[in-house]
Amino acid sequence: MTRLPDAQRLEIGDITVTALSDGPLPLGVDNLVGIEKDEYARLMRERHLDAETWRSGLNAFVIETGGRKILVDAGVAGNMGERTGRVAANMAAAGYAPDDIDTIYVTHMHPDHIAGLMGEDGARFGKAVLKVHEADHAHFSDEANASDATRAMLKAYEDQTETFATGADIATGLRNLHLPGHTPGHSGLEIQSGGSTLLLLTDIVHIAPVQLANPDVGTGFDTDVEQARATRKAILDRVASDETPILGSHITFPGAGFIERAETGYRFVQLPYSHDD
Ligand SMILES: [Zn+2]
Repeated sequence: MTRLPDAQRLEIGDITVTALSDGPLPLGVDNLVGIEKDEYARLMRERHLDAETWRSGLNAFVIETGGRKILVDAGVAGNMGERTGRVAANMAAAGYAPDDIDTIYVTHMHPDHIAGLMGEDGARFGKAVLKVHEADHAHFSDEANASDATRAMLKAYEDQTETFATGADIATGLRNLHLPGHTPGHSGLEIQSGGSTLLLLTDIVHIAPVQLANPDVGTGFDTDVEQARATRKAILDRVASDETPILGSHITFPGAGFIERAETGYRFVQLPYSHDD
C-alpha cells in the first residue's frame, strides 16, 4: 500500500506552518532520568498507551511568512530506525523543493534535528541561510562536544551560517524563544500574526505522556538536566496559564495542541484538525 504523506498545515494569522513528520522515534524509559520502569508503565497505561510499543514523534516544520520559506529542523535522515528519515519525502509531498527554502532555523544541534540537512554531496539546502543560536554554535564547535552530525553540518554550511542571540527576530512574526538546558542554545520559536500566537517548544519533552504528567522527569540527552527541568517547568506553567497553543518536536504528529493542568502535572490536548481550503 502507498504510505500517505505526514504533512499538516496550520494557519496563524498570515503565517502558514506546515508540520512534517520524520517518522516514529524509538524512545523509551531508558532515555529518561528520574523515573522507574513501573511508574513509566503505569503512566503510559493510564493514558491508554502501551509502554512496549509506543513510539515518540519527530517533527520538522516549514514556515511561510513575509514571502519567505523557513525550514525548522530536518529530521534524523534515517539514523534512528528504518521508519525515520521521512522529512524529505513529506516535504516534497507538501510541495516544497530543497531550493525553495531560503532560511533554515536550527532549534539545536542534536542529530535528530540536523542530520536531514545533509545530502549526498554536502548541504541539501544550497540556497538557504542557516541560523543557529550562538550558544549552540559555540558549544558544538568545541571538539569536546562535537558529533559526526555537527561536524558535517558545520563544515557543509560554513559559508551559509549565521548565529543569532536570545530573543532575536528571525523573520516576520518569528522570534527566538530561548529554552536552555537541553542544549545551551536550545531554541523554540514565537510565531505571532494577526493577534494569534503559537509557540514552538522544540525538545521541552521527549516522551510527552510521561514528562507532562511529571515535568521533573528529565532526558539522558540533556546537556544540563537541572536547567532543562527548570526551563520545562517554567514554560509549561506559562502556556497552561495563558492557554497559548504549542508545537513540540517530539509530540506525536503533528505535535500541535494545548497544555492543560491535570491532577498531577499536565496533559496535552491536541488542536482540532483543520482542513485546507
Ligand atoms: Zn530532539
